[in-house]
Order: sequence, then C-alpha cells, then structure tokens
Amino acid sequence: MKLRLGRVADWIGAEGDFATESEAIGYSIDSRTISAGDLFFAVRGERMDGHDYVEAALGNGAVAAVVSMQWLSPAGVGSDRLLRVPDENDYENDGVLAALQRLALRVRQEWGGRVIGVTGSAGKTTTKEAVATVLGARFRVLKSHGNFNNGFGLPLQMLKLEPEHEVAVIEMGMNHAGEIRALAEIARPDWAVVSNVAPVHLEFFADGIKGIAAAKYELVEALPPDGIAVLNADDEYVRTFGHGMGSRAVFYGMGEDAEVRATQITEAGSEGTVFTVAAGGRRASVQLRMLGRHNVMNALAAIAIGLQSGIDLEACVDALGTLQAGDRRGEIMQWNGATVINDCYNSNPRALDAMVDALLAIPAERHIVVAGEMLELGPDAETLHAACGKRMADRGVVLVLGVRGYARAIADAAHTGGVESIFFESPKEAGSWMRDSLRPGDAVLLKASRGVKLELALDVLKTKV
Ligand code: ATP
Ligand code: MG
Repeated sequence: MKLRLGRVADWIGAEGDFATESEAIGYSIDSRTISAGDLFFAVRGERMDGHDYVEAALGNGAVAAVVSMQWLSPAGVGSDRLLRVPDENDYENDGVLAALQRLALRVRQEWGGRVIGVTGSAGKTTTKEAVATVLGARFRVLKSHGNFNNGFGLPLQMLKLEPEHEVAVIEMGMNHAGEIRALAEIARPDWAVVSNVAPVHLEFFADGIKGIAAAKYELVEALPPDGIAVLNADDEYVRTFGHGMGSRAVFYGMGEDAEVRATQITEAGSEGTVFTVAAGGRRASVQLRMLGRHNVMNALAAIAIGLQSGIDLEACVDALGTLQAGDRRGEIMQWNGATVINDCYNSNPRALDAMVDALLAIPAERHIVVAGEMLELGPDAETLHAACGKRMADRGVVLVLGVRGYARAIADAAHTGGVESIFFESPKEAGSWMRDSLRPGDAVLLKASRGVKLELALDVLKTKV
C-alpha cells in the first residue's frame, strides 16, 4: 500500500527531517533487492544489522530509511531521508522491527478486509497456495509470497495489501510458544486454517508435542467471536481445537466425521491424484496435479475455505485442477529415461509414506526411493525412520537408498524386509550412485528434511562424468 512518509511517521511514531509528502511505494528490509521508491527498514537480524546497509539502500533508490534513534549515521548518510524510531528499552530491543510490525498492523486495519491465517507443522505453504487458488475463482486475493511467515516476512506481506484486495491468505510459522500469537496481533486473522501438529522443533518445547499443539492453538484463540476455524479432523490435536466453537469450526479430512471429506483416493501416476470430495450433501471429483495423500488434505482445507466463502463446490474443484506442485515439493522431471520426483524441500514420516505410495503408482521397471534423514523427530527418531523403511519393503519398492544420519535405519529396515538397500553419508554420494546406476524406465523418489539438502544429489545428475 502506498503511503506518504508523514503518515508512516505518525503511525510508527517516527521523527526526523524527511520529506513528509514523499511517498513509499513498497517496503523492504533488504538493500540488495530494494526497488526504487521503497521504504527501507534497518532491522537487525541474527547475523547482521540493517543500519550497516542504510547507505546502500538509499543508493539503490529507497525513498527513505527507518532507523533507530540511537544510530549515529555516518556523516552525510541520508540526513534528509531518515525516519528515526525509539528502541523499546535499549539498542538490543529492535525498535525498527517493532515499527515495521506496527505499520503492518495499521495497514491491515485501514484495509479492513478478511485475513485468513494458515498454520500447522507441515503443509502451510501448499495449503496457502491451494486456498488462494480456490478463492481466486471469485475474489481478488493477496497471498503471502513463498515462505514469508515469520516476524519479518509476515509484516512485509501485510504491507502488500492494496485497497482492491478482497481477501488475504497469510502463512504463519513458528518455532517457539507465543510466536503465532504475536503474528496474529499483526495480521488479525478473521479465519484460520490449521493443517496438523507434528513433532518438529521439539527442542524448543519442554512439554513436547502438547506444547506444539498449544502454540498452534494460539491462532484459533486469536480469532474474533465470529471467526471461522478450518481444522484437520484426522489430527488428534487439531481436532480438539474446535471445542466450544460450534458451527464456526469446520472439519476436513478422510475420516467419517469430517464435514469436507475425501473418499476414493486414487494415485494417478505422474498425473497426480484423483479423489471424491463430499461436503454439505454434495459430491464432486477432484483431479489434483500433485502427488500424495497429504496434498489431498491440503486441497480439502482449500475447499472448506471456498465453501465458507460462498464459492460452489464445482468452482472450488475446477480451480484446484490448475494448482501445480511447488518448488521441490513433488516436482516431476525426466532424466535419461528415468522419472525423478524432486521432493527435497522437506520430509516427515507421514508425507514420506504418502509419497512412496504415489511413486508406486507410476508405471516403472524399478521403483527406487532415495530417502534422506528426517530431522527434529525427537526421541523416537530411529524407530520412526525404521518404520518408513519397513513400509517401503512391504509395499514393493525394489531399492532403497538412505542418506545421512538416521536414514541408516530406513536402509537397514528395508534390508531386513528383503529389499536391496544402500546407505550414503551425503547427498552427493547418492547423486553419483544415481548418475551411474539409474536406468531408463526407473521411477525415483527423492525426499528428505531440508537440512539434508538432498537436491545436491540432483545437481550431480546434471554434471557430466
Ligand atoms: P515450512 O515450515 O518450511 O514453511 P510448510 O509448512 O509451509 O513448511 P510445505 O512447504 O507446504 O509446508 O510442505 C513441505 C513438505 O511437508 C512437503 O514437501 C510434504 O512433504 C510435507 N507436507 C505437505 N503437506 C502436508 C500435510 N498436509 N501433512 C503432512 N505433511 C505435509
Ligand atoms: Mg512454508
């Protein structure tokens, strides 16, 4: 939203000698990607201080910079283009970030439309994309970009609101208790979607998965009295979030108690997934161009939001047919006659099982899984890895490659199940094996937690020996 600097200063409580009539066209915290006319916020990150980049930002066309009152600008740097804000108590407390968040809240309030917050342990970005696609059938939608879901990224997304937007779909992430509450204080969601609660980032929660569940519940708690929560009925924690909400809680899932329910799920090979959705006494067939049952769940959440928004079931389903797999989230490519599924963005046991089933539905001479370590699974990590390996053997995968750490348990369990398996310490070694050993007609799934960087194996495929 374009704003005059005078107005920005009023809203964030800034002082300084700047041209109050100048206009900020956009907002940025990165001097490298700043566009002409953007207002630069000199926020402090873990490794750097935005104040060191004020000169660069102004040089790259920033209209002005929001800086700390305590910052001593080097002689001549932006003396007529600085909006100075107080640090809350001391310089360690980032007043510039607080100003960015205050501005985002004001813009959100001025705009006044409906905000839909999306959270969960896995599937936030995909669900957000699916919801925005369905709502796009009827409304002008702002969706948060990519993965911008934290205290820096979320306010920057809210600042993209324009008067013509009718609804905003905003991803909200967290690693600690209280973070979703803080994000909700900026985004003020009217509706919420919660995809699931899983044991990730366990190290930050003394009370384990219950603590994670409570942290996700913060989004539902933040809803106004008439707010709607779209909840995964198949998740033992999320299903409890609707207590006391009556019809304002809408449940989706594959179980019988889901109001928006998927049945007859068929893996359609590299075409994606086909299923029947039943909601409000009606049914429709959905052709999803994405692999895996977890994506059926993400699609159901989007249908639930669409129906609540007054879009009819057929229009929801048509819109979903246009949705494509996102970056490294089940992208399909061909390599020397082999079908390769790049699912290296992230992993968890449930999604890995689902992708193995999707792989097996692709006609192939050999079904091969390159499974990297799944991080942050807590004390049961080894058992959870082994269960995935056993399942691969039971389902008919013929070759299992484990990559790094606990993925050794995947390979070992597959081996015990009678399937050939190899363990590699690094993605590059797995890549070299693939380059030398894959044959035309193979179908290969690569999936791992993001920290493993399993996509490096694919880089090896692109290099000549
Ligand atoms: P991040 O925490 O990085 O923002 P995210 O929650 O936005 O992740 P996505 O990027 O949508 O999640 O998906 C990441 C991975 O999570 C997918 O590649 C898939 O393996 C898995 N996943 C996606 N949707 C679900 C789901 N509904 N249930 C379980 N796992 C899922
Ligand atoms: Mg995400």
